[in-house]
Amino acid sequence: MIEIRHLTKKFGDLTVLDDISLTIRDGEIYGIIGQSGAGKSTLLRCINGLERYDAGSILVDGQEVSALSTSSLHGLQKQMGMIFQNFNLLSRLNVFDNVALPMRFAGLNPRKPEHRRRILDLIDLVGLSDKLKSRPRELSGGQKQRVAIARALVLQPKILLCDEATSALDPSITQGILNLLTTIRNEMNITVIVVTHQMEVVTHICERVSFLKDSRLIQEGRPEELFVIPNDDFRAFLGKTDDALPKTGRNIRIFFTENTVESPLISTMARELGIDFSICRADMTDFRGQVMGSLVLNVREQDAGVVLDYLNKAHYIARED
Ligand code: ADP
Ligand code: MG
Repeated sequence: MIEIRHLTKKFGDLTVLDDISLTIRDGEIYGIIGQSGAGKSTLLRCINGLERYDAGSILVDGQEVSALSTSSLHGLQKQMGMIFQNFNLLSRLNVFDNVALPMRFAGLNPRKPEHRRRILDLIDLVGLSDKLKSRPRELSGGQKQRVAIARALVLQPKILLCDEATSALDPSITQGILNLLTTIRNEMNITVIVVTHQMEVVTHICERVSFLKDSRLIQEGRPEELFVIPNDDFRAFLGKTDDALPKTGRNIRIFFTENTVESPLISTMARELGIDFSICRADMTDFRGQVMGSLVLNVREQDAGVVLDYLNKAHYIARED
């Protein structure tokens, strides 16, 4: 478990992390989302001890990171694999040797049968068994990130830190990498921390997420809690605007915070109330297989009250937009 309490980090006069508190549980896929410059990478680097912090506390499995001796810190860093936007592969090494590199640094011989087997198993897990001898320049972006993932896992870490791991990849390739991260978490039972500015990364794989803005943690929760009913800061981050709603009648937004695929709400309400309305906006997103979001109905002026009443009684969150 990683417990961060009142963490503050400055570069000179610039405060880049301001009183951050959050908890990441073992085995979860945790997202940290925010704009460029929000402090996400610095937070990751504090977690793995690459960066010192000025105040507050980071406990990894009960150990205060800043209080560790150099050798204990190296031990902790071996428990954490890391991947980056630009892959950081060595161009002169082939796939096998890139994945083996952390073993060499740790003084382990990659040719030893059990080590070699571990490397080959990881390369197989990321789907590159036919590329063992390929150099990075012969691989696509997605394949390079797969090599980097295998490399990050070769010392059998308990935590995988991903810093904008899919930001340089096409959307379809991104999906493949995200699916792979989920598979890895499920099969190896490790904790995955994902730093990103991409909303689809969070909705697709994260079980909980923190939203950072200007060095501060603005909101923490399940992705669906942030996305379905966003606060003003998060709406601004998502670039959402409210144009395109009809100017006549009344607009009522209904929030779906549970899977909506099987909900007959709209047709049932129309039939029971004997009221016609149009759906003028729908903003639904897939959260790890569950569809949630909001939609806006346009109703006649005189029907708004009875529609809001119906939704209230049916325990839906609804409001005029
Ligand atoms: P993000 O990953 O969210 O884009 P960063 O953590 O990289 O944000 O950066 C947060 C802020 O800290 C930025 O204003 C950045 O310019 C500043 N910063 C990051 N690293 C350093 C450094 N080594 N020295 C000085 N300022 C830094
Ligand atoms: Mg960053």
